[in-house]
Amino acid sequence: MSLEHVDVLIVGAGLSGIGAACHLQTNCPSKSYRILEARENIGGTWDLFRYPGIRSDSDMYTLGYSFRPWKEAKSIADGSSILDYVRQTAADHGVEQKIRFKHRAVRADWSTDEARWTVEARREDTGETVRMSCDFLFMCSGYYRYDEGYSPEFPGVERFEGRIVHPQHWSEDIDYAGKRVVVIGSGATAVTLVPSMADTAAHVTMLQRSPSYIVSLPAEDPVARALRRFLPAKVAYPIMRWKNVLLTMASFQLSRRRPKTMRALVRKGLERQLPAGYDIDTHFNPTYDPWDQRLCLVPNGDLFEALSDGRASVVTDRIETLTEKGVMLASGTELEADLLVTATGLNLLALGGIELAVDDSEVILPETMSYKGMMLSGVPNFAFAVGYTNASWTLKCDLTCEYVCRLLNHMDVHGYRRCAALNRDPSVVERPFIDFSSGYVLRSIDKFPKQGSKAPWRLHQNYALDIFNLKFGSIEDYAMEFSFAGSTHETVEPVPA
Ligand SMILES: Cc1cc2nc3c(=O)[nH]c(=O)nc-3n(C[C@H](O)[C@H](O)[C@H](O)COP(=O)(O)OP(=O)(O)OC[C@H]3O[C@@H](n4cnc5c(N)ncnc54)[C@H](O)[C@@H]3O)c2cc1C
Repeated sequence: MSLEHVDVLIVGAGLSGIGAACHLQTNCPSKSYRILEARENIGGTWDLFRYPGIRSDSDMYTLGYSFRPWKEAKSIADGSSILDYVRQTAADHGVEQKIRFKHRAVRADWSTDEARWTVEARREDTGETVRMSCDFLFMCSGYYRYDEGYSPEFPGVERFEGRIVHPQHWSEDIDYAGKRVVVIGSGATAVTLVPSMADTAAHVTMLQRSPSYIVSLPAEDPVARALRRFLPAKVAYPIMRWKNVLLTMASFQLSRRRPKTMRALVRKGLERQLPAGYDIDTHFNPTYDPWDQRLCLVPNGDLFEALSDGRASVVTDRIETLTEKGVMLASGTELEADLLVTATGLNLLALGGIELAVDDSEVILPETMSYKGMMLSGVPNFAFAVGYTNASWTLKCDLTCEYVCRLLNHMDVHGYRRCAALNRDPSVVERPFIDFSSGYVLRSIDKFPKQGSKAPWRLHQNYALDIFNLKFGSIEDYAMEFSFAGSTHETVEPVPA
């Protein structure tokens, strides 16, 4: 039986996959493509997460696509507005018709002789296996497991008489009005949940083992408001995007070069917004430096407001055991709760869990090295979209998509059928793919590809540098090998280092 064949197969219909399809349609209009999406909806993260207050923790001028202005008033936006934005983008570009929903890509086999991938997908509704082939495989599958958030084993969990829920598995029937809630965690999700739930709960306690850096920003950007009054969105948007790119880069660079100054600035902000005498040292003064882990944003200081008026509180302690009534802490205090929310993080998953093989040889991800933060050493005609850890995800994904389009057009112009980053320079030192000290990163980073100590293997986490390298840099270099036909015998000499 002949397989359905497309030029490009995209996996994932989240923010990145929809963006990839739009870029492809614009920059490579003759290419055929499909999207395989495991779920039944568009939107990925923004469709999955439904917990109270779900919102972005970066501004939408940089989390939005380069090609589609963010027009809403709020710059730190609600999950539902972001989902609408992704859906509307897909609808306006006619991407929806190209998506095969409920198709989970489970395996892809590259054949050098045929210069194509055969991709196996499992239908999530019927369990049936579907096969397709493609010239180029583009993974836009996010970075974490959808079926299960991370929850540590709490001793005494069977004793607790209330309800326990992980934010990733929030359901509409969870009623917390007038209830005592304990949110376990100190990351972006916890600081979103606490003020939002505190609106109706009897009281919300944020129980953290260790503090995070938390910075307040206006939900609505006053500069954007002013610009929008005088300029059309198409003009105002890139100005806002660059303003925020530069501010974020400056904050990251300041954190890395002058961590003490950054610490002092964050502390000043906290002192301004918390009641006099609040114990900042215990609850908001991390042991690590700013940006060693992701900084948390709160819009309009909503968390500090809830703490100031007593609707919420922060406890920094260790959990000894859960009890019938709540949580017993190492300090001997018992926190009573009707509802426990375990905002304890995600389980990272590389490349949507797909198995890859090249000419019958299994690809072991940790043995590969990422090339320009978007391809893998030894894996032909393959790319993945993974965003920044220190700036908005989409900034990098837009650049990745544009680069993939340039690469495909370059191959067409020269008649190449295969490209692969093959020539690993022996002087390049292996480094972890993400250099963050957060628990969720450390738990899984050994299952991810490596990055290298220098270009083109290094992940710069720097938008300005990536624009230079990915938008304008050469497609051919010493590491990338091209060939005309499938066979490696017709390989083109790589550009010398
Ligand atoms: C709660 C939360 C808030 C966040 N807020 C921000 C923020 O404010 N700013 C920021 O920059 N980043 C944020 N992030 C990171 C966020 O995930 C990205 O910004 C962005 O939404 C990721 O888009 P994506 O399309 O790459 O991945 P996802 O949104 O994860 O979408 C991936 C899609 O691929 C599908 N998929 C996965 N594997 C397969 C497979 N094998 N076969 C078929 N389909 C598959 C999934 O079902 C999903 O639909 C946040 C993350 C979370 C969890």
